[in-house]
Amino acid sequence: MALNLNDAIQACWKRIDEGQVATYIPALAKVDPYQLGVCLYDVDSGKKNCAGAANVRFAIESVSKVITLLYAIERLGLAKVEEQVGTRQTGFAFDTILNMEITKETKPLNPFVNSGAILVSSLIEEEDHRSPFDQILDFTREICHDPQVTLNEEIYQSELRTGDMNRSLAYYLKAKETLANDVTTSLETYFKQCSMMVTCESLANLGAVLANDGIAPWSGERLISSDAATYAKSVMMTTGLYNESGTYSVKIGIPTKSGVGGGLVASAPKYGIGIFSPALDPAGNSVAGLALLEMISRELKLDIFNY
Ligand code: GLU
Repeated sequence: MALNLNDAIQACWKRIDEGQVATYIPALAKVDPYQLGVCLYDVDSGKKNCAGAANVRFAIESVSKVITLLYAIERLGLAKVEEQVGTRQTGFAFDTILNMEITKETKPLNPFVNSGAILVSSLIEEEDHRSPFDQILDFTREICHDPQVTLNEEIYQSELRTGDMNRSLAYYLKAKETLANDVTTSLETYFKQCSMMVTCESLANLGAVLANDGIAPWSGERLISSDAATYAKSVMMTTGLYNESGTYSVKIGIPTKSGVGGGLVASAPKYGIGIFSPALDPAGNSVAGLALLEMISRELKLDIFNY
């Protein structure tokens, strides 16, 4: 591989100053912005190339929406999930109620705006005395090939304390009779899934499963259906980077999902990529992280539209 990831990190480092760590969740405001890490998983060779803060644990936040979506599809089937949540883009912020009010439909625009994500979380039912979140946590450990993924209690409490916008979305969904579980359980599941701690390497593994048609490249085991992998990548491409998804579709051209913890999961042909850098743009995307992903896309010719 021609690209030296340490040099790439060096080149993108100054971009950190253009962003700010998320402050609306107080526990995230304490994170050191001066961190940038990457892990690149080459599905064909099975080799991983990691650099910088690749093993630092950070809050997965909205990247978890990909995992819960995949889990819901595995449990309920794609048709049922598609019945409940749309795949349309939004020009609005991820947490605003406008994402539901602007359409005549009662279903949320897509599974990555908060209303859609809370709805998807509500679809997971308790099973064998295992709460929805316990199932999501186990599935996360499996698909991220990372048994160390745990819930960060401080972040969870912080989300609970400051999550009134999400509460309003959940009640709105309840009023529309679309929330599948009660408000408290749905929000508990959602807040907890956002508070899981991952690394760039865990996200590279997730990206690699998606890049490998749903099969874990480390074991050859199918973890999700081919349809689920394709569906998730399409939605990541069109809505994975909040209301800037179109911008980065042109600049980077790789299905990617970001979270306000500063994480990015990307799934390119033959590559799973995990990136972490906590300083965000106004939409909620990691600034230096996307600069690095853009460089990787260019150097390795991973832009899926460049054919
Ligand atoms: N827990 C965060 C929220 O609901 C996740 C936001 C994000 O990463 O987009 O506001």
